[in-house]
Amino acid sequence: TPAVELRDVSVHFGRTVALHGLDLSVAPGETLALLGPSGSGKSTALKAIAGFLRPTSGRVLLGGRDVTDTPPNRRGLGVVVQSYALFPHMKVFDNVAFGLHARRVPRREVAARVAEVLDLVGMGGFRDRYPRQLSGGQQQRVAIARALAIRPPVLLLDEPLSALDAALREEMVAELLRLRAELPDTAVVYVTHDQGEALALADRIAVMRDARLVEVGPTESLYHRP
Ligand code: ADP
Ligand code: ADP
Repeated sequence: TPAVELRDVSVHFGRTVALHGLDLSVAPGETLALLGPSGSGKSTALKAIAGFLRPTSGRVLLGGRDVTDTPPNRRGLGVVVQSYALFPHMKVFDNVAFGLHARRVPRREVAARVAEVLDLVGMGGFRDRYPRQLSGGQQQRVAIARALAIRPPVLLLDEPLSALDAALREEMVAELLRLRAELPDTAVVYVTHDQGEALALADRIAVMRDARLVEVGPTESLYHRP
């Protein structure tokens, strides 16, 4: 069963067609990059998976279950989008614990899980800091830890590195590769306009243009790595 499946998904905003008949599936453990220029529909596809918007037509399935009419917080996904920043008034620990409290995870287990995911992203020593006391890269790591804390079968990342400078981006790509190896069963959908990031991180690449999928295939077959 695919971890994620989009069946003929279209999204219209008034007269704008943001997504046109997208068919796509992602296997458990697979990292799929959605690659394409700005405005090609990548974020819209990700939001349809996350449930932040409802498709005009088509269906969204997670683990074989039709979630087209399921609200985002009931989909059990880990999501990192730029607009969904850390809570500034909460320490790192509480930011990461937030989703666990909401899910009524027992307090002792919350502490263990927060420690685990903060270690996973290399932020174990920062639990008592506030977001403003962290660099952009560190904040992004905490955002990823927060998404992972609920142990989602699917992790959605929307341009997670775009706010970082080039050197830090490179470091974070290495970090994400390491993270992937630690989470062998987690499906990842990685939205980017950066071909280099897609090449470095994805098992498969889906290329989007003008609201459509124009090509999809294993990374090695679409591009030759330098
Ligand atoms: P990408 O993520 O590839 O940059 P988007 O999915 O954000 O592309 O956008 C695809 C198209 O849909 C663009 O033309 C964009 O302007 C339009 N669009 C996205 N969100 C909205 C919205 N909330 N209202 C109106 N148009 C939107
Ligand atoms: P864009 O950058 O393409 O304009 P964003 O990634 O900023 O779009 O987010 C689009 C919408 O998704 C925003 O209205 C935001 O409030 C909503 N959103 C983001 N995260 C969540 C969430 N966890 N739950 C509900 N809505 C969310």
